[in-house]
Amino acid sequence: MNDLDQDQYKKSKGKLTEHSIDYGLICEGALDVISQLHATGFKAYIVGGGVRDLLLDLHPKDFDIATDATPEDVRQLFDNSRIIGRRFRIVHVYFEGGFTEVATFRAANTASVNTQGRIIADNTFGNIEEDAFRRDFTVNALFYDSEKNQILDLVDGLQDIDAKLLRVIGDPDLRFREDPVRMLRAVRLATKLNFEIEKSAKDAIFRLGCLLSEVPSARLFDEMIKLFHGGFGLKTYQALREFDLFRHMFPLTEQVLEQEANTFTNLVKLALENTDERIRSGKSVTPAFLYAVFLWGPMRKLSKQLELDGITPQVAHDASVKDTILSQLPFTSIPKRFSYSMRDIWNLQYRFYRRRGKRAYQLFEHDRFRAAYDFLCLRASAGEPVDELCEWWTVFQDVDDATRRKMTRAPQNRSSKQGSRANPRLSKKKTYH
Ligand code: ATP
Ligand code: MG
Repeated sequence: MNDLDQDQYKKSKGKLTEHSIDYGLICEGALDVISQLHATGFKAYIVGGGVRDLLLDLHPKDFDIATDATPEDVRQLFDNSRIIGRRFRIVHVYFEGGFTEVATFRAANTASVNTQGRIIADNTFGNIEEDAFRRDFTVNALFYDSEKNQILDLVDGLQDIDAKLLRVIGDPDLRFREDPVRMLRAVRLATKLNFEIEKSAKDAIFRLGCLLSEVPSARLFDEMIKLFHGGFGLKTYQALREFDLFRHMFPLTEQVLEQEANTFTNLVKLALENTDERIRSGKSVTPAFLYAVFLWGPMRKLSKQLELDGITPQVAHDASVKDTILSQLPFTSIPKRFSYSMRDIWNLQYRFYRRRGKRAYQLFEHDRFRAAYDFLCLRASAGEPVDELCEWWTVFQDVDDATRRKMTRAPQNRSSKQGSRANPRLSKKKTYH
């Protein structure tokens, strides 16, 4: 322990302990950045999820670094670096195979809190103790010095790691008001780590969930990706609903889930299970698919209503797609590229019925065929009456060209009761199914 650390330790009454952290799990690039900062006379630690996950024998997603060097110092020290961010100015230092985020110790800046207590700017530099206390949960505020193999614990985070307890630093009410996204982070982390959320924080979440409506929709979009594309999507969704937070991100979805506990409930669960499985096996995932799933219930409900009002199925469908997307935007933003592919996934659901002649081939060639086909088969598994279609398209993909030609000539493509009823462009009936 050097003098500076000793001082810090005494001043903070924190704990400085040796740890047998597995070096092999830490990315070399991050270790190099820390060595260079140390060599130049700065302090530098791995912080946040990286330390927490190492202590829990999990593979950390990333290794964030906290330092007393300013962003400009860091930028100057590393040729391959870039200052980013407005609310938080941090430096990305690039190395072979990735980059690490380097942030200067910051203090919680009460001067930048709005009338509701929400943080609107957060760039006041501080010391390491202030940096620990501005963090969200005790288990996220541990500082690991990779060169000395020591952990500095200023908030009793180590004992919470042992107890598997997610504890807010400070008063949960105040900290959630400062930044309501912390409530989503609490649920996400507790689910991922299998931790219990402390009682007072749980109570605060039930009371303050509605504050999520004040969070910019673009930030909630980013958070949604972390919630559902982190490999624990289904469990996280269930926890969000238990804490009554889901409604603040997807109110239209929540409404349908509450009213119609049927195929739509199944669809959402199956899709999240499927997404978790894809992530585990290293396959790609897209927010467009998630949106297509979450908003399918509301979109179909509206469409059916419009049809009952006498609007033709195709017009009802197009209007419902537009209206549903527009209604979701105030809550979580949907970048254009995702709303386009989500529309494609939806629109193709109806084109799957049209299998005669070259139509089947054209559909098969469509950029979004795969995602739309997966969606169709999920609907079948969820209990929607589309299993015959799903089977047909499954076979179509597997067989040789001669068999495909035979399939596209088969009379049932035209006469199938389900097919003719379900094709909105051809049908004059009021509902699809
Ligand atoms: P993950 O495993 O998902 O990356 P994480 O805890 O590392 O979890 P990050 O978003 O990478 O999450 O944040 C890094 C660290 O920054 C956190 O561990 C926490 O210390 C701090 N932090 C992040 N978001 C907030 C917030 N909204 N309020 C306070 N501190 C935060
Ligand atoms: Mg992280």
